[in-house]
Amino acid sequence: MDKLFSMIEVEVNSQCNRTCWYCPNSVSQRKENGEMDPALYKSLMEQLSSLDFAGRISFHFYGEPLLCKNLDLFVGMTTEYIPRARPIIYTNGDFLTEKRLKTLTELGIQKFIVTQHAGAKHKFRGVYDQLAGAEKEKVVYLDHSDLILSNRGGIMDNIPQASKANMSCMVPSNLVVVTVLGNVLPCFEDFNQKMVMGNIGEHHISDIWHNEKFTSFRKLLKEGHRGKSDLCKNCNNVSVQTEDQYDYVL
Ligand code: SF4
Repeated sequence: MDKLFSMIEVEVNSQCNRTCWYCPNSVSQRKENGEMDPALYKSLMEQLSSLDFAGRISFHFYGEPLLCKNLDLFVGMTTEYIPRARPIIYTNGDFLTEKRLKTLTELGIQKFIVTQHAGAKHKFRGVYDQLAGAEKEKVVYLDHSDLILSNRGGIMDNIPQASKANMSCMVPSNLVVVTVLGNVLPCFEDFNQKMVMGNIGEHHISDIWHNEKFTSFRKLLKEGHRGKSDLCKNCNNVSVQTEDQYDYVL
Protein backbone atom coordinates (compact mmCIF):
# COMPACT_ATOMS: atom_id res chain seq x y z
CA MET A 1 0.00 0.00 0.00
CA ASP A 2 1.34 3.47 -0.92
CA LYS A 3 2.53 5.58 1.99
CA LEU A 4 0.26 8.42 3.03
CA PHE A 5 0.63 11.96 1.68
CA SER A 6 2.94 14.26 3.62
CA MET A 7 1.40 17.53 2.43
CA ILE A 8 -2.17 18.72 2.22
CA GLU A 9 -3.36 21.98 0.70
CA VAL A 10 -6.85 23.04 1.72
CA GLU A 11 -8.77 25.58 -0.34
CA VAL A 12 -10.37 27.37 2.59
CA ASN A 13 -11.51 30.09 0.18
CA SER A 14 -11.41 30.60 -3.57
CA GLN A 15 -11.15 34.37 -3.88
CA CYS A 16 -7.97 36.33 -4.51
CA ASN A 17 -7.50 40.09 -4.65
CA ARG A 18 -4.82 39.82 -7.37
CA THR A 19 -4.80 38.48 -10.91
CA CYS A 20 -1.11 37.94 -11.59
CA TRP A 21 -0.16 37.31 -15.21
CA TYR A 22 1.33 33.90 -14.31
CA CYS A 23 -1.74 32.68 -12.38
CA PRO A 24 -4.73 30.83 -13.90
CA ASN A 25 -6.98 33.31 -12.06
CA SER A 26 -5.95 35.82 -14.75
CA VAL A 27 -7.29 33.70 -17.62
CA SER A 28 -9.97 31.47 -16.14
CA GLN A 29 -12.50 31.00 -13.34
CA ARG A 30 -12.28 28.46 -10.56
CA LYS A 31 -15.03 25.83 -10.81
CA GLU A 32 -15.83 26.20 -7.10
CA ASN A 33 -16.32 29.54 -5.42
CA GLY A 34 -16.69 30.90 -1.92
CA GLU A 35 -15.41 29.61 1.40
CA MET A 36 -15.25 26.18 2.95
CA ASP A 37 -18.06 25.28 5.33
CA PRO A 38 -16.65 24.99 8.89
CA ALA A 39 -18.50 21.67 9.29
CA LEU A 40 -16.63 20.29 6.27
CA TYR A 41 -13.31 21.58 7.61
CA LYS A 42 -14.07 19.93 10.96
CA SER A 43 -14.79 16.65 9.18
CA LEU A 44 -11.44 16.92 7.39
CA MET A 45 -9.69 17.54 10.71
CA GLU A 46 -11.36 14.46 12.24
CA GLN A 47 -10.21 12.40 9.28
CA LEU A 48 -6.63 13.70 9.52
CA SER A 49 -6.68 13.22 13.28
CA SER A 50 -7.59 9.55 12.81
CA LEU A 51 -4.43 9.29 10.68
CA ASP A 52 -2.35 11.22 13.25
CA PHE A 53 -1.31 13.44 10.34
CA ALA A 54 2.06 15.07 11.03
CA GLY A 55 2.94 16.64 7.69
CA ARG A 56 2.58 20.10 6.21
CA ILE A 57 -0.87 21.64 5.99
CA SER A 58 -1.49 24.90 4.16
CA PHE A 59 -4.59 26.93 3.49
CA HIS A 60 -4.66 27.72 -0.19
CA PHE A 61 -5.22 26.46 -3.68
CA TYR A 62 -5.59 29.55 -5.91
CA GLY A 63 -7.19 31.81 -3.30
CA GLU A 64 -5.62 34.26 -0.86
CA PRO A 65 -6.14 32.69 2.59
CA LEU A 66 -6.08 35.97 4.49
CA LEU A 67 -9.35 36.85 2.74
CA CYS A 68 -11.04 33.85 4.35
CA LYS A 69 -13.35 35.05 7.11
CA ASN A 70 -12.98 31.79 9.05
CA LEU A 71 -9.21 31.48 8.73
CA ASP A 72 -8.58 31.89 12.46
CA LEU A 73 -11.21 29.26 13.24
CA PHE A 74 -9.65 26.84 10.76
CA VAL A 75 -6.11 27.38 12.04
CA GLY A 76 -7.30 26.90 15.64
CA MET A 77 -9.09 23.66 14.70
CA THR A 78 -5.95 22.46 12.94
CA THR A 79 -3.88 22.91 16.10
CA GLU A 80 -6.56 21.22 18.18
CA TYR A 81 -7.14 18.17 15.96
CA ILE A 82 -3.72 17.54 14.40
CA PRO A 83 -1.17 19.01 16.83
CA ARG A 84 1.73 17.17 15.19
CA ALA A 85 1.10 18.80 11.79
CA ARG A 86 3.02 21.83 10.47
CA PRO A 87 0.53 24.57 9.58
CA ILE A 88 1.98 27.00 7.06
CA ILE A 89 0.36 29.97 5.36
CA TYR A 90 1.22 30.86 1.77
CA THR A 91 0.08 34.41 1.14
CA ASN A 92 0.55 37.43 -1.08
CA GLY A 93 0.99 39.42 2.15
CA ASP A 94 -1.42 42.19 1.16
CA PHE A 95 -3.47 41.70 4.33
CA LEU A 96 -0.74 40.45 6.64
CA THR A 97 -0.22 43.03 9.35
CA GLU A 98 1.96 42.55 12.40
CA LYS A 99 -1.20 41.99 14.45
CA ARG A 100 -2.51 39.28 12.08
CA LEU A 101 0.88 37.64 12.06
CA LYS A 102 0.92 37.56 15.86
CA THR A 103 -2.65 36.23 16.13
CA LEU A 104 -2.10 33.50 13.56
CA THR A 105 1.19 32.51 15.19
CA GLU A 106 -0.55 32.20 18.56
CA LEU A 107 -3.19 30.00 16.91
CA GLY A 108 -0.50 27.66 15.59
CA ILE A 109 0.92 28.87 12.27
CA GLN A 110 4.59 27.88 12.16
CA LYS A 111 5.66 29.65 8.99
CA PHE A 112 4.44 32.35 6.61
CA ILE A 113 5.58 32.11 3.00
CA VAL A 114 4.97 35.63 1.71
CA THR A 115 5.40 36.35 -1.98
CA GLN A 116 5.61 39.85 -3.34
CA HIS A 117 3.73 39.28 -6.57
CA ALA A 118 3.94 41.31 -9.76
CA GLY A 119 1.91 44.48 -9.97
CA ALA A 120 0.68 46.66 -7.11
CA LYS A 121 3.14 47.97 -4.51
CA HIS A 122 3.71 45.62 -1.59
CA LYS A 123 2.60 47.04 1.75
CA PHE A 124 4.05 44.02 3.55
CA ARG A 125 7.60 45.30 2.93
CA GLY A 126 7.04 47.95 5.63
CA VAL A 127 5.55 45.36 8.02
CA TYR A 128 8.44 42.97 7.44
CA ASP A 129 11.08 45.62 8.06
CA GLN A 130 9.52 46.39 11.45
CA LEU A 131 9.30 42.78 12.67
CA ALA A 132 11.42 41.77 15.64
CA GLY A 133 13.89 38.87 15.25
CA ALA A 134 11.67 35.99 16.44
CA GLU A 135 8.71 37.18 14.35
CA LYS A 136 10.89 37.74 11.32
CA GLU A 137 12.21 34.20 11.55
CA LYS A 138 8.67 32.93 10.97
CA VAL A 139 8.53 34.65 7.56
CA VAL A 140 10.04 33.49 4.29
CA TYR A 141 9.81 36.58 2.11
CA LEU A 142 10.01 35.96 -1.61
CA ASP A 143 9.80 38.10 -4.69
CA HIS A 144 7.85 36.72 -7.67
CA SER A 145 11.13 36.75 -9.58
CA ASP A 146 12.31 34.04 -7.13
CA LEU A 147 9.55 31.71 -8.33
CA ILE A 148 10.13 29.02 -10.91
CA LEU A 149 7.04 29.64 -12.98
CA SER A 150 4.91 26.71 -13.94
CA ASN A 151 2.54 26.66 -16.90
CA ARG A 152 -0.05 25.21 -14.53
CA GLY A 153 -0.60 21.94 -16.32
CA GLY A 154 -0.46 23.75 -19.67
CA ILE A 155 -3.16 26.33 -18.82
CA MET A 156 -0.82 29.32 -19.06
CA ASP A 157 0.01 29.86 -22.73
CA ASN A 158 2.32 32.75 -21.82
CA ILE A 159 4.64 30.37 -19.97
CA PRO A 160 6.43 28.05 -22.38
CA GLN A 161 5.09 24.53 -22.73
CA ALA A 162 7.75 21.92 -22.30
CA SER A 163 8.30 18.45 -23.57
CA LYS A 164 8.40 16.68 -20.21
CA ALA A 165 6.03 13.97 -21.38
CA ASN A 166 8.36 11.18 -20.26
CA MET A 167 9.54 12.73 -17.01
CA SER A 168 8.30 11.29 -13.73
CA CYS A 169 6.43 13.43 -11.24
CA MET A 170 6.08 12.67 -7.55
CA VAL A 171 3.49 15.31 -6.68
CA PRO A 172 0.63 12.77 -6.49
CA SER A 173 2.84 10.58 -4.28
CA ASN A 174 3.32 13.34 -1.72
CA LEU A 175 0.38 15.70 -1.73
CA VAL A 176 -3.38 16.15 -1.88
CA VAL A 177 -5.50 19.21 -2.44
CA VAL A 178 -8.94 19.54 -0.89
CA THR A 179 -11.19 22.07 -2.60
CA VAL A 180 -13.82 24.39 -1.09
CA LEU A 181 -16.50 21.73 -1.62
CA GLY A 182 -14.36 18.85 -0.39
CA ASN A 183 -13.16 17.42 -3.70
CA VAL A 184 -9.77 15.76 -3.52
CA LEU A 185 -7.26 16.54 -6.28
CA PRO A 186 -3.85 14.93 -6.77
CA CYS A 187 -1.98 18.08 -7.68
CA PHE A 188 -1.81 21.83 -7.04
CA GLU A 189 -1.71 22.33 -10.83
CA ASP A 190 -5.21 20.92 -11.31
CA PHE A 191 -6.94 24.33 -11.37
CA ASN A 192 -9.73 23.00 -13.59
CA GLN A 193 -10.29 19.87 -11.51
CA LYS A 194 -9.63 17.37 -14.27
CA MET A 195 -8.71 14.62 -11.80
CA VAL A 196 -11.19 14.58 -8.94
CA MET A 197 -10.32 11.50 -6.88
CA GLY A 198 -13.28 11.63 -4.50
CA ASN A 199 -14.96 13.90 -1.98
CA ILE A 200 -14.23 13.99 1.75
CA GLY A 201 -17.96 14.47 2.43
CA GLU A 202 -18.52 10.98 1.02
CA HIS A 203 -15.34 9.06 1.76
CA HIS A 204 -12.51 9.19 4.27
CA ILE A 205 -9.47 10.95 2.78
CA SER A 206 -7.36 7.86 3.40
CA ASP A 207 -9.78 5.72 1.34
CA ILE A 208 -9.64 8.32 -1.45
CA TRP A 209 -5.82 8.33 -1.32
CA HIS A 210 -5.76 4.56 -1.70
CA ASN A 211 -8.59 4.17 -4.21
CA GLU A 212 -8.00 2.66 -7.63
CA LYS A 213 -8.17 5.94 -9.55
CA PHE A 214 -5.66 7.75 -7.34
CA THR A 215 -3.33 4.75 -7.07
CA SER A 216 -3.23 4.25 -10.85
CA PHE A 217 -2.64 7.95 -11.49
CA ARG A 218 0.19 8.02 -8.93
CA LYS A 219 1.81 5.00 -10.57
CA LEU A 220 1.46 6.51 -14.04
CA LEU A 221 3.25 9.70 -12.99
CA LYS A 222 5.88 7.91 -10.96
CA GLU A 223 6.75 5.84 -14.02
CA GLY A 224 7.07 8.94 -16.18
CA HIS A 225 3.97 8.69 -18.35
CA ARG A 226 2.83 12.31 -18.20
CA GLY A 227 1.86 12.11 -21.85
CA LYS A 228 -0.95 9.65 -20.99
CA SER A 229 -2.73 12.13 -18.74
CA ASP A 230 -4.77 15.05 -20.00
CA LEU A 231 -3.81 16.99 -16.85
CA CYS A 232 -0.09 16.33 -17.20
CA LYS A 233 0.76 16.06 -20.88
CA ASN A 234 1.66 19.74 -21.27
CA CYS A 235 2.86 20.40 -17.71
CA ASN A 236 6.36 21.82 -17.29
CA ASN A 237 6.51 21.42 -13.50
CA VAL A 238 9.46 19.35 -12.34
CA SER A 239 9.58 20.62 -8.75
CA VAL A 240 8.83 17.30 -7.02
CA GLN A 241 11.04 14.49 -8.21
CA THR A 242 11.52 12.38 -5.11
CA GLU A 243 9.41 10.74 -2.45
CA ASP A 244 9.46 12.48 0.93
CA GLN A 245 10.26 15.81 -0.72
CA TYR A 246 9.23 18.46 1.73
CA ASP A 247 9.50 21.96 0.44
CA TYR A 248 8.10 25.28 1.62
CA VAL A 249 8.17 26.77 -1.81
CA LEU A 250 5.81 24.67 -3.87
S1 SF4 B 1 2.96 16.36 -14.13
FE1 SF4 B 1 2.31 18.45 -13.57
S2 SF4 B 1 0.08 18.40 -13.56
FE2 SF4 B 1 0.80 16.27 -13.52
S3 SF4 B 1 0.85 15.70 -11.35
FE3 SF4 B 1 2.91 16.46 -11.90
S4 SF4 B 1 2.92 18.65 -11.43
FE4 SF4 B 1 0.80 17.95 -11.48
